[in-house]
Amino acid sequence: MFPSFPLVCAVLIAVACGWINSDRLRSAVTLLGQSPPNITLCPQVPPLFPTQHAELNAQLNKRYSSETFRLSSYQFLGDAIQIPTESYDDLLPVGQDERWIIFNVFHIFFEESFPRIYSSLTVTRVNTYGLVFHWQGSDDSVKPLLFAAHQDVVPVDWSTEDQWIHGPYSGLYDGKSCTWIFGRGSVDDKADLIAQLLAVNSLLEAGFKPRRTVVLAFGFDEEASGTEGAGKLAPYLEETYGRDGFAMLLDEGEGYGENLKEGVIVALLGVSEKGYFDASIEVFAPGGHSSIPPDHTSIGLLSLLIASLEANSHPPRLLRNGTAFAAAQCAVQHPTKPGKYPAGMKDLARRATVPGDDVALQKFAKALFEADPFFKVLSRTTQAVDLISGGVKINALPERAEAVINHRIAEHSTAQEVKKHIIDLVLPLAAEHNLSVQAFGDDIRNGSEAYRVVLSDAFYSPLEPSPVTPISNSPMYDVLSGTIIATLQSSKRYQADGVVVAPSLGLGKFTYGYTLYYWNLTRNIFRYSHRGDSDDRYNGLHTINEGVRAESFIEQIRFFTNLILNLDEVKSD
Ligand SMILES: [Zn+2]
Repeated sequence: MFPSFPLVCAVLIAVACGWINSDRLRSAVTLLGQSPPNITLCPQVPPLFPTQHAELNAQLNKRYSSETFRLSSYQFLGDAIQIPTESYDDLLPVGQDERWIIFNVFHIFFEESFPRIYSSLTVTRVNTYGLVFHWQGSDDSVKPLLFAAHQDVVPVDWSTEDQWIHGPYSGLYDGKSCTWIFGRGSVDDKADLIAQLLAVNSLLEAGFKPRRTVVLAFGFDEEASGTEGAGKLAPYLEETYGRDGFAMLLDEGEGYGENLKEGVIVALLGVSEKGYFDASIEVFAPGGHSSIPPDHTSIGLLSLLIASLEANSHPPRLLRNGTAFAAAQCAVQHPTKPGKYPAGMKDLARRATVPGDDVALQKFAKALFEADPFFKVLSRTTQAVDLISGGVKINALPERAEAVINHRIAEHSTAQEVKKHIIDLVLPLAAEHNLSVQAFGDDIRNGSEAYRVVLSDAFYSPLEPSPVTPISNSPMYDVLSGTIIATLQSSKRYQADGVVVAPSLGLGKFTYGYTLYYWNLTRNIFRYSHRGDSDDRYNGLHTINEGVRAESFIEQIRFFTNLILNLDEVKSD
Protein backbone atom coordinates (compact mmCIF):
# COMPACT_ATOMS: atom_id res chain seq x y z
CA MET A 1 0.00 0.00 0.00
CA PHE A 2 1.40 3.41 -0.97
CA PRO A 3 1.57 5.88 1.93
CA SER A 4 -0.59 8.97 1.75
CA PHE A 5 0.92 12.25 0.52
CA PRO A 6 0.32 14.17 3.80
CA LEU A 7 2.02 11.40 5.78
CA VAL A 8 5.10 11.50 3.55
CA CYS A 9 5.20 15.29 3.89
CA ALA A 10 4.89 15.01 7.66
CA VAL A 11 7.87 12.68 7.85
CA LEU A 12 9.97 14.88 5.54
CA ILE A 13 9.15 17.95 7.63
CA ALA A 14 9.95 16.03 10.81
CA VAL A 15 13.35 15.01 9.44
CA ALA A 16 14.08 18.59 8.41
CA CYS A 17 13.15 19.85 11.86
CA GLY A 18 15.20 17.21 13.63
CA TRP A 19 12.20 15.55 15.29
CA ILE A 20 13.21 12.28 13.75
CA ASN A 21 16.93 11.65 13.96
CA SER A 22 18.74 9.57 11.40
CA ASP A 23 18.46 6.42 13.54
CA ARG A 24 14.71 6.76 13.53
CA LEU A 25 14.29 7.65 9.90
CA ARG A 26 14.51 4.10 8.59
CA SER A 27 11.95 3.01 11.13
CA ALA A 28 9.61 5.86 10.27
CA VAL A 29 9.81 5.04 6.59
CA THR A 30 9.13 1.39 7.42
CA LEU A 31 6.02 2.46 9.28
CA LEU A 32 4.77 4.21 6.17
CA GLY A 33 4.79 0.76 4.62
CA GLN A 34 2.64 -0.39 7.56
CA SER A 35 5.34 -2.64 9.00
CA PRO A 36 5.62 -2.60 12.78
CA PRO A 37 7.63 0.45 13.85
CA ASN A 38 11.13 -0.18 15.09
CA ILE A 39 11.86 3.20 16.64
CA THR A 40 14.23 3.37 19.60
CA LEU A 41 12.31 4.71 22.56
CA CYS A 42 14.27 6.90 24.95
CA PRO A 43 17.55 6.83 22.98
CA GLN A 44 20.70 6.89 25.13
CA VAL A 45 24.30 7.94 24.61
CA PRO A 46 27.21 5.74 25.69
CA PRO A 47 29.05 6.51 28.93
CA LEU A 48 31.45 9.39 28.44
CA PHE A 49 34.85 9.33 30.14
CA PRO A 50 37.60 11.88 29.62
CA THR A 51 40.18 10.65 27.10
CA GLN A 52 42.83 13.39 26.88
CA HIS A 53 42.44 13.82 30.62
CA ALA A 54 42.07 10.10 31.35
CA GLU A 55 45.23 9.88 33.40
CA LEU A 56 44.34 12.94 35.46
CA ASN A 57 40.85 11.57 35.98
CA ALA A 58 42.20 8.20 37.16
CA GLN A 59 44.57 9.97 39.53
CA LEU A 60 41.74 12.06 40.98
CA ASN A 61 39.42 9.07 41.28
CA LYS A 62 42.10 7.30 43.30
CA ARG A 63 42.46 10.35 45.48
CA TYR A 64 38.69 10.65 46.00
CA SER A 65 38.50 7.07 47.26
CA SER A 66 41.18 7.63 49.91
CA GLU A 67 40.16 7.83 53.54
CA THR A 68 41.97 11.14 53.98
CA PHE A 69 40.13 12.83 51.15
CA ARG A 70 36.76 11.44 52.15
CA LEU A 71 37.03 12.51 55.78
CA SER A 72 38.31 15.97 54.94
CA SER A 73 35.47 16.43 52.42
CA TYR A 74 32.89 15.45 55.04
CA GLN A 75 34.49 17.98 57.33
CA PHE A 76 34.20 20.76 54.73
CA LEU A 77 30.52 20.00 54.24
CA GLY A 78 29.95 19.68 57.99
CA ASP A 79 31.64 23.03 58.62
CA ALA A 80 29.51 24.65 55.90
CA ILE A 81 26.34 23.25 57.51
CA GLN A 82 27.35 24.67 60.89
CA ILE A 83 26.94 28.21 59.57
CA PRO A 84 23.17 28.85 59.66
CA THR A 85 22.72 30.83 56.45
CA GLU A 86 18.95 31.03 56.81
CA SER A 87 16.84 33.08 54.45
CA TYR A 88 13.42 34.45 55.37
CA ASP A 89 10.41 35.56 53.38
CA ASP A 90 10.41 38.99 55.03
CA LEU A 91 14.06 39.84 54.46
CA LEU A 92 14.65 43.44 53.42
CA PRO A 93 17.16 44.22 50.66
CA VAL A 94 20.87 43.72 51.36
CA GLY A 95 22.16 46.55 53.52
CA GLN A 96 18.82 47.08 55.21
CA ASP A 97 18.53 43.87 57.21
CA GLU A 98 21.11 42.58 59.66
CA ARG A 99 20.01 38.97 59.15
CA TRP A 100 22.15 38.89 55.98
CA ILE A 101 25.32 39.33 58.03
CA ILE A 102 25.68 35.58 58.59
CA PHE A 103 26.74 35.31 54.94
CA ASN A 104 29.93 37.22 55.83
CA VAL A 105 30.78 34.33 58.13
CA PHE A 106 30.09 31.89 55.30
CA HIS A 107 32.43 33.82 52.99
CA ILE A 108 35.22 33.79 55.59
CA PHE A 109 34.74 30.02 55.78
CA PHE A 110 35.15 29.78 51.98
CA GLU A 111 38.30 31.88 51.99
CA GLU A 112 39.87 29.93 54.84
CA SER A 113 38.86 26.51 53.44
CA PHE A 114 39.80 27.07 49.80
CA PRO A 115 42.80 29.43 49.68
CA ARG A 116 43.98 27.86 46.43
CA ILE A 117 40.67 28.72 44.74
CA TYR A 118 40.84 32.29 46.00
CA SER A 119 44.41 32.71 44.78
CA SER A 120 43.90 31.04 41.38
CA LEU A 121 40.37 32.10 40.32
CA THR A 122 38.85 35.55 40.04
CA VAL A 123 36.24 35.92 42.75
CA THR A 124 33.59 38.62 42.33
CA ARG A 125 30.97 39.61 44.86
CA VAL A 126 27.65 40.65 43.39
CA ASN A 127 25.24 42.54 45.63
CA THR A 128 27.62 41.87 48.56
CA TYR A 129 26.77 38.19 49.12
CA GLY A 130 26.42 36.73 45.64
CA LEU A 131 29.65 34.97 44.62
CA VAL A 132 31.03 34.36 41.14
CA PHE A 133 34.18 32.27 40.74
CA HIS A 134 35.80 32.66 37.31
CA TRP A 135 38.36 30.05 36.27
CA GLN A 136 39.86 31.32 33.05
CA GLY A 137 40.31 28.77 30.29
CA SER A 138 42.95 28.92 27.56
CA ASP A 139 40.51 28.85 24.62
CA ASP A 140 38.08 31.75 24.31
CA SER A 141 36.46 30.21 21.24
CA VAL A 142 34.49 27.81 23.43
CA LYS A 143 31.80 29.10 25.74
CA PRO A 144 32.25 28.81 29.50
CA LEU A 145 30.53 26.24 31.66
CA LEU A 146 28.32 27.61 34.46
CA PHE A 147 27.58 25.76 37.69
CA ALA A 148 25.00 27.31 40.03
CA ALA A 149 24.16 26.57 43.66
CA HIS A 150 22.73 28.52 46.57
CA GLN A 151 24.33 29.44 49.87
CA ASP A 152 21.12 29.87 51.86
CA VAL A 153 18.93 27.33 53.63
CA VAL A 154 15.37 27.31 54.89
CA PRO A 155 15.13 28.22 58.59
CA VAL A 156 14.90 25.51 61.23
CA ASP A 157 11.62 25.35 63.12
CA TRP A 158 13.08 25.24 66.63
CA SER A 159 9.90 23.70 68.03
CA THR A 160 10.98 20.52 66.19
CA GLU A 161 14.53 20.54 67.58
CA ASP A 162 13.94 17.50 69.79
CA GLN A 163 12.94 15.47 66.72
CA TRP A 164 16.34 15.91 65.10
CA ILE A 165 18.64 12.92 65.69
CA HIS A 166 21.55 15.34 65.76
CA GLY A 167 21.41 19.11 66.12
CA PRO A 168 19.99 20.90 63.07
CA TYR A 169 23.27 22.73 62.55
CA SER A 170 25.62 20.02 63.83
CA GLY A 171 26.96 19.07 60.39
CA LEU A 172 27.72 15.79 62.12
CA TYR A 173 29.42 12.81 60.56
CA ASP A 174 30.85 10.33 63.04
CA GLY A 175 31.77 7.56 60.63
CA LYS A 176 30.58 4.86 63.02
CA SER A 177 26.97 4.97 64.05
CA CYS A 178 25.90 6.83 60.96
CA THR A 179 26.89 7.02 57.37
CA TRP A 180 25.18 10.37 56.99
CA ILE A 181 26.16 13.98 57.23
CA PHE A 182 23.34 15.67 59.10
CA GLY A 183 22.01 19.17 59.23
CA ARG A 184 20.03 21.86 57.49
CA GLY A 185 21.46 22.42 54.05
CA SER A 186 23.24 19.04 53.89
CA VAL A 187 21.14 18.21 50.84
CA ASP A 188 19.62 21.53 49.82
CA ASP A 189 21.94 22.90 48.62
CA LYS A 190 25.30 22.89 50.40
CA ALA A 191 26.25 19.43 49.13
CA ASP A 192 26.07 20.71 45.52
CA LEU A 193 27.90 23.89 46.43
CA ILE A 194 30.75 22.33 48.44
CA ALA A 195 31.10 19.45 45.94
CA GLN A 196 31.63 22.00 43.14
CA LEU A 197 34.30 23.80 45.17
CA LEU A 198 36.02 20.53 46.12
CA ALA A 199 36.06 19.38 42.49
CA VAL A 200 37.62 22.67 41.36
CA ASN A 201 40.05 22.63 44.28
CA SER A 202 41.15 19.06 43.50
CA LEU A 203 41.65 19.89 39.82
CA LEU A 204 43.73 22.93 40.78
CA GLU A 205 45.83 20.85 43.16
CA ALA A 206 46.41 18.31 40.38
CA GLY A 207 47.73 21.09 38.13
CA PHE A 208 44.78 21.07 35.70
CA LYS A 209 44.56 24.12 33.49
CA PRO A 210 41.18 24.35 31.78
CA ARG A 211 40.79 24.98 28.09
CA ARG A 212 37.11 25.89 28.64
CA THR A 213 36.43 28.60 31.22
CA VAL A 214 34.54 27.39 34.28
CA VAL A 215 32.27 29.72 36.26
CA LEU A 216 30.56 29.03 39.58
CA ALA A 217 27.71 31.33 40.66
CA PHE A 218 26.28 31.13 44.17
CA GLY A 219 23.15 33.05 45.10
CA PHE A 220 22.02 33.56 48.68
CA ASP A 221 18.22 33.84 48.79
CA GLU A 222 16.96 30.98 46.65
CA GLU A 223 14.68 29.87 49.48
CA ALA A 224 13.08 33.33 49.54
CA SER A 225 12.37 35.16 46.29
CA GLY A 226 15.81 34.97 44.69
CA THR A 227 15.67 38.65 43.81
CA GLU A 228 18.73 39.67 45.83
CA GLY A 229 20.87 36.70 44.78
CA ALA A 230 20.19 35.21 41.32
CA GLY A 231 18.14 38.30 40.48
CA LYS A 232 21.34 40.37 40.68
CA LEU A 233 23.75 37.65 39.53
CA ALA A 234 21.85 37.17 36.26
CA PRO A 235 22.42 40.70 34.87
CA TYR A 236 26.02 40.59 36.02
CA LEU A 237 26.60 37.27 34.24
CA GLU A 238 24.83 38.44 31.09
CA GLU A 239 26.82 41.67 31.01
CA THR A 240 30.11 39.85 31.58
CA TYR A 241 29.65 36.79 29.37
CA GLY A 242 26.96 37.96 26.96
CA ARG A 243 23.50 36.75 26.08
CA ASP A 244 23.67 33.01 25.41
CA GLY A 245 27.24 33.32 26.62
CA PHE A 246 27.49 29.95 28.34
CA ALA A 247 27.72 26.47 26.85
CA MET A 248 25.64 25.02 29.66
CA LEU A 249 24.14 25.89 33.03
CA LEU A 250 23.79 23.21 35.65
CA ASP A 251 21.76 23.99 38.78
CA GLU A 252 20.25 21.81 41.50
CA GLY A 253 17.45 19.43 40.54
CA GLU A 254 16.26 15.89 40.78
CA GLY A 255 18.72 13.03 40.91
CA TYR A 256 18.67 9.38 40.00
CA GLY A 257 16.44 6.50 41.08
CA GLU A 258 17.27 4.33 44.02
CA ASN A 259 17.61 1.02 42.29
CA LEU A 260 21.29 0.44 42.91
CA LYS A 261 21.08 -3.28 43.53
CA GLU A 262 19.20 -4.54 40.52
CA GLY A 263 17.41 -3.26 37.45
CA VAL A 264 18.05 0.02 35.75
CA ILE A 265 18.90 3.33 37.38
CA VAL A 266 16.94 6.21 35.88
CA ALA A 267 18.48 9.66 36.21
CA LEU A 268 16.11 12.58 35.67
CA LEU A 269 17.54 15.58 33.93
CA GLY A 270 15.35 18.68 34.25
CA VAL A 271 15.15 20.41 30.86
CA SER A 272 12.03 22.50 31.22
CA GLU A 273 9.67 24.00 33.80
CA LYS A 274 6.04 24.87 33.71
CA GLY A 275 4.93 28.46 34.07
CA TYR A 276 3.18 29.88 37.13
CA PHE A 277 0.22 32.14 37.70
CA ASP A 278 -2.00 32.96 40.70
CA ALA A 279 -5.30 34.43 39.52
CA SER A 280 -7.60 36.32 41.85
CA ILE A 281 -11.37 36.39 41.29
CA GLU A 282 -13.22 38.95 43.37
CA VAL A 283 -16.98 39.36 43.39
CA PHE A 284 -18.50 42.57 44.76
CA ALA A 285 -22.18 42.78 45.71
CA PRO A 286 -24.35 45.08 47.86
CA GLY A 287 -24.24 44.53 51.62
CA GLY A 288 -27.27 44.63 53.91
CA HIS A 289 -29.11 42.61 56.47
CA SER A 290 -29.15 38.91 55.73
CA SER A 291 -32.83 38.69 56.64
CA ILE A 292 -33.58 40.28 53.25
CA PRO A 293 -31.13 38.54 50.90
CA PRO A 294 -30.98 38.67 47.10
CA ASP A 295 -31.06 35.42 45.10
CA HIS A 296 -27.25 35.34 45.04
CA THR A 297 -24.73 36.80 47.47
CA SER A 298 -21.18 37.58 46.41
CA ILE A 299 -20.20 34.22 47.88
CA GLY A 300 -22.89 32.43 45.91
CA LEU A 301 -21.83 34.11 42.65
CA LEU A 302 -18.18 33.32 43.33
CA SER A 303 -19.15 29.70 43.94
CA LEU A 304 -20.84 29.52 40.54
CA LEU A 305 -17.68 30.86 38.89
CA ILE A 306 -15.48 28.34 40.71
CA ALA A 307 -17.81 25.49 39.81
CA SER A 308 -17.64 26.52 36.16
CA LEU A 309 -13.83 26.67 36.24
CA GLU A 310 -13.59 23.21 37.80
CA ALA A 311 -16.07 21.79 35.31
CA ASN A 312 -13.94 23.15 32.45
CA SER A 313 -10.36 22.38 33.41
CA HIS A 314 -7.56 22.78 30.88
CA PRO A 315 -7.41 19.73 28.64
CA PRO A 316 -4.17 17.71 28.62
CA ARG A 317 -2.21 17.87 25.36
CA LEU A 318 0.58 15.41 24.84
CA LEU A 319 2.69 16.95 22.08
CA ARG A 320 5.38 15.08 20.16
CA ASN A 321 7.91 17.87 20.58
CA GLY A 322 7.13 18.35 24.29
CA THR A 323 9.13 17.26 27.31
CA ALA A 324 6.21 15.26 28.72
CA PHE A 325 6.18 13.12 25.57
CA ALA A 326 9.94 12.48 25.71
CA ALA A 327 9.67 11.68 29.43
CA ALA A 328 6.74 9.34 28.75
CA GLN A 329 8.71 7.42 26.14
CA CYS A 330 11.45 6.80 28.71
CA ALA A 331 8.92 5.85 31.39
CA VAL A 332 7.28 3.31 29.09
CA GLN A 333 10.59 1.88 27.93
CA HIS A 334 11.93 1.64 31.52
CA PRO A 335 8.92 1.28 33.85
CA THR A 336 9.62 1.63 37.56
CA LYS A 337 7.36 -1.36 38.29
CA PRO A 338 6.67 -4.41 36.16
CA GLY A 339 3.15 -4.31 34.77
CA LYS A 340 2.81 -0.57 35.29
CA TYR A 341 1.81 -0.12 31.65
CA PRO A 342 -0.53 -2.36 29.66
CA ALA A 343 0.78 -4.81 27.09
CA GLY A 344 1.48 -3.19 23.74
CA MET A 345 2.30 0.17 25.33
CA LYS A 346 5.82 0.28 23.89
CA ASP A 347 4.46 -0.42 20.42
CA LEU A 348 1.91 2.33 20.88
CA ALA A 349 4.65 4.69 22.06
CA ARG A 350 6.68 3.92 18.93
CA ARG A 351 3.72 4.51 16.64
CA ALA A 352 2.93 7.77 18.45
CA THR A 353 6.42 9.01 17.62
CA VAL A 354 5.78 9.06 13.89
CA PRO A 355 4.59 12.53 12.83
CA GLY A 356 1.22 12.38 11.14
CA ASP A 357 -0.07 9.40 13.05
CA ASP A 358 -2.27 11.42 15.37
CA VAL A 359 -4.60 8.49 15.97
CA ALA A 360 -1.68 6.59 17.52
CA LEU A 361 -0.70 9.68 19.50
CA GLN A 362 -4.21 10.03 20.94
CA LYS A 363 -4.35 6.34 21.81
CA PHE A 364 -0.97 6.53 23.46
CA ALA A 365 -1.97 9.62 25.47
CA LYS A 366 -5.18 7.96 26.66
CA ALA A 367 -3.42 4.77 27.77
CA LEU A 368 -0.61 6.77 29.36
CA PHE A 369 -2.92 9.01 31.39
CA GLU A 370 -4.85 5.97 32.61
CA ALA A 371 -1.71 4.07 33.62
CA ASP A 372 0.02 7.05 35.21
CA PRO A 373 -2.11 10.16 35.85
CA PHE A 374 1.05 12.13 36.62
CA PHE A 375 1.58 12.44 32.87
CA LYS A 376 -1.81 14.09 32.63
CA VAL A 377 -0.56 16.68 35.12
CA LEU A 378 2.59 17.19 33.05
CA SER A 379 0.62 17.59 29.84
CA ARG A 380 -1.83 20.26 30.92
CA THR A 381 -2.12 23.57 32.70
CA THR A 382 -3.26 22.64 36.17
CA GLN A 383 -5.51 24.82 38.31
CA ALA A 384 -6.16 24.61 42.04
CA VAL A 385 -8.52 26.88 43.96
CA ASP A 386 -6.38 27.24 47.07
CA LEU A 387 -7.63 30.34 48.85
CA ILE A 388 -11.11 31.66 49.52
CA SER A 389 -12.43 34.44 51.67
CA GLY A 390 -15.63 36.44 52.12
CA GLY A 391 -18.14 37.51 54.71
CA VAL A 392 -17.57 38.91 58.16
CA LYS A 393 -20.78 38.29 60.10
CA ILE A 394 -23.60 35.78 59.96
CA ASN A 395 -26.30 38.45 59.72
CA ALA A 396 -24.50 40.71 57.21
CA LEU A 397 -24.52 40.11 53.46
CA PRO A 398 -20.93 39.71 52.19
CA GLU A 399 -19.92 42.73 50.14
CA ARG A 400 -16.83 41.03 48.74
CA ALA A 401 -15.76 37.44 48.17
CA GLU A 402 -12.44 36.34 46.70
CA ALA A 403 -10.86 33.13 45.50
CA VAL A 404 -7.26 32.67 44.37
CA ILE A 405 -6.46 30.00 41.83
CA ASN A 406 -2.98 28.60 41.49
CA HIS A 407 -1.98 27.62 37.94
CA ARG A 408 1.05 25.69 36.70
CA ILE A 409 1.13 26.57 33.02
CA ALA A 410 1.78 23.79 30.51
CA GLU A 411 4.94 23.93 28.43
CA HIS A 412 2.86 24.54 25.29
CA SER A 413 0.71 27.33 26.79
CA THR A 414 1.06 30.90 28.05
CA ALA A 415 -0.21 33.06 30.89
CA GLN A 416 -2.32 34.92 28.32
CA GLU A 417 -4.10 31.68 27.40
CA VAL A 418 -4.84 31.02 31.06
CA LYS A 419 -6.33 34.49 31.46
CA LYS A 420 -8.44 34.02 28.35
CA HIS A 421 -9.66 30.66 29.65
CA ILE A 422 -10.91 32.31 32.87
CA ILE A 423 -12.50 35.24 31.01
CA ASP A 424 -14.29 32.89 28.59
CA LEU A 425 -15.86 31.06 31.53
CA VAL A 426 -16.73 34.18 33.52
CA LEU A 427 -18.50 36.06 30.69
CA PRO A 428 -21.49 33.69 30.19
CA LEU A 429 -22.19 33.68 33.93
CA ALA A 430 -21.76 37.45 34.03
CA ALA A 431 -24.34 37.77 31.25
CA GLU A 432 -26.74 35.45 33.04
CA HIS A 433 -26.51 37.46 36.28
CA ASN A 434 -25.89 40.91 34.76
CA LEU A 435 -22.48 41.35 36.37
CA SER A 436 -19.92 43.95 35.34
CA VAL A 437 -16.51 42.44 34.61
CA GLN A 438 -13.08 43.97 34.89
CA ALA A 439 -10.41 41.55 33.64
CA PHE A 440 -6.74 42.18 34.35
CA GLY A 441 -7.08 45.94 34.21
CA ASP A 442 -9.64 46.24 31.39
CA ASP A 443 -13.40 46.80 31.70
CA ILE A 444 -14.73 44.10 29.41
CA ARG A 445 -18.42 44.01 30.37
CA ASN A 446 -20.77 46.69 31.58
CA GLY A 447 -23.51 45.18 33.69
CA SER A 448 -25.00 46.10 37.03
CA GLU A 449 -23.01 48.76 38.89
CA ALA A 450 -23.63 47.01 42.17
CA TYR A 451 -22.55 43.54 41.09
CA ARG A 452 -18.99 43.31 39.76
CA VAL A 453 -16.37 40.67 39.06
CA VAL A 454 -12.72 41.69 39.11
CA LEU A 455 -10.03 39.38 37.77
CA SER A 456 -6.39 40.18 38.60
CA ASP A 457 -2.91 38.83 39.33
CA ALA A 458 -3.16 37.76 42.98
CA PHE A 459 0.44 38.21 44.13
CA TYR A 460 3.10 38.38 41.46
CA SER A 461 3.21 38.81 37.74
CA PRO A 462 2.73 35.49 35.94
CA LEU A 463 5.82 33.49 34.99
CA GLU A 464 5.75 31.99 31.51
CA PRO A 465 6.88 28.37 30.98
CA SER A 466 10.66 28.16 30.70
CA PRO A 467 12.47 27.79 27.42
CA VAL A 468 12.92 24.08 26.68
CA THR A 469 16.51 22.84 26.62
CA PRO A 470 17.15 20.91 23.41
CA ILE A 471 17.59 17.18 23.93
CA SER A 472 17.96 15.82 20.42
CA ASN A 473 21.00 16.68 18.32
CA SER A 474 22.25 18.50 21.42
CA PRO A 475 25.96 18.08 22.24
CA MET A 476 25.45 19.50 25.73
CA TYR A 477 22.59 17.09 26.56
CA ASP A 478 24.74 14.24 25.27
CA VAL A 479 27.83 15.26 27.27
CA LEU A 480 25.83 15.64 30.46
CA SER A 481 23.97 12.35 29.93
CA GLY A 482 27.17 10.53 29.09
CA THR A 483 28.86 11.96 32.18
CA ILE A 484 26.00 10.89 34.46
CA ILE A 485 26.09 7.37 33.02
CA ALA A 486 29.88 7.15 33.22
CA THR A 487 29.99 8.45 36.80
CA LEU A 488 27.37 5.99 37.96
CA GLN A 489 28.82 3.02 36.13
CA SER A 490 32.32 3.71 37.45
CA SER A 491 31.08 4.09 41.01
CA LYS A 492 31.99 1.48 43.60
CA ARG A 493 28.34 1.57 44.61
CA TYR A 494 27.12 0.58 41.17
CA GLN A 495 25.29 -2.73 41.07
CA ALA A 496 22.68 -2.07 38.40
CA ASP A 497 21.96 -3.47 34.97
CA GLY A 498 22.26 -0.10 33.33
CA VAL A 499 21.71 3.63 33.59
CA VAL A 500 19.11 5.58 31.67
CA VAL A 501 18.96 9.36 31.49
CA ALA A 502 15.44 10.69 30.98
CA PRO A 503 14.40 14.31 30.40
CA SER A 504 12.06 15.72 33.02
CA LEU A 505 9.71 18.66 33.35
CA GLY A 506 9.50 20.76 36.52
CA LEU A 507 6.12 21.73 37.85
CA GLY A 508 6.71 25.45 38.02
CA LYS A 509 8.40 28.28 39.88
CA PHE A 510 11.05 27.37 42.38
CA THR A 511 10.71 23.62 41.93
CA TYR A 512 14.37 23.60 40.91
CA GLY A 513 16.70 26.30 42.11
CA TYR A 514 16.14 29.59 40.48
CA THR A 515 17.12 29.07 36.92
CA LEU A 516 14.20 31.32 35.96
CA TYR A 517 16.57 34.26 36.31
CA TYR A 518 19.09 32.64 33.97
CA TRP A 519 17.06 32.04 30.82
CA ASN A 520 19.16 34.54 28.80
CA LEU A 521 22.49 32.96 29.69
CA THR A 522 22.27 29.77 27.65
CA ARG A 523 19.88 27.53 25.70
CA ASN A 524 21.22 24.56 27.67
CA ILE A 525 19.79 24.85 31.18
CA PHE A 526 19.81 21.66 33.22
CA ARG A 527 18.44 20.99 36.69
CA TYR A 528 20.13 17.96 38.20
CA SER A 529 21.84 16.92 41.45
CA HIS A 530 23.97 13.81 41.21
CA ARG A 531 22.59 11.76 44.09
CA GLY A 532 20.00 9.07 44.75
CA ASP A 533 16.56 10.61 45.03
CA SER A 534 15.73 8.94 48.33
CA ASP A 535 18.47 6.40 49.11
CA ASP A 536 20.96 9.19 49.57
CA ARG A 537 18.71 11.40 51.65
CA TYR A 538 17.96 10.56 55.26
CA ASN A 539 14.69 12.45 55.13
CA GLY A 540 12.99 14.95 52.85
CA LEU A 541 14.08 18.50 52.21
CA HIS A 542 12.99 21.48 54.28
CA THR A 543 12.14 19.26 57.25
CA ILE A 544 13.65 17.55 60.28
CA ASN A 545 16.69 15.29 59.96
CA GLU A 546 17.90 16.59 56.65
CA GLY A 547 20.88 14.39 55.92
CA VAL A 548 22.97 13.31 52.96
CA ARG A 549 24.64 9.92 52.62
CA ALA A 550 28.33 10.61 53.03
CA GLU A 551 29.56 8.42 50.17
CA SER A 552 27.05 10.01 47.78
CA PHE A 553 28.70 13.35 48.52
CA ILE A 554 31.99 11.94 47.19
CA GLU A 555 30.09 10.77 44.10
CA GLN A 556 28.94 14.35 43.55
CA ILE A 557 32.55 15.54 43.62
CA ARG A 558 33.44 12.84 41.07
CA PHE A 559 30.53 13.87 38.91
CA PHE A 560 31.49 17.56 38.81
CA THR A 561 35.11 16.58 38.11
CA ASN A 562 34.10 14.27 35.24
CA LEU A 563 31.84 16.93 33.79
CA ILE A 564 34.51 19.66 33.85
CA LEU A 565 37.02 17.29 32.21
CA ASN A 566 34.55 15.98 29.62
CA LEU A 567 33.38 19.45 28.64
CA ASP A 568 36.98 20.56 28.40
CA GLU A 569 37.45 18.02 25.62
CA VAL A 570 34.26 18.85 23.71
CA LYS A 571 34.88 21.02 20.66
CA SER A 572 31.38 22.42 20.10
CA ASP A 573 30.20 25.66 21.63
ZN1 LIG B 1 17.67 24.33 46.77
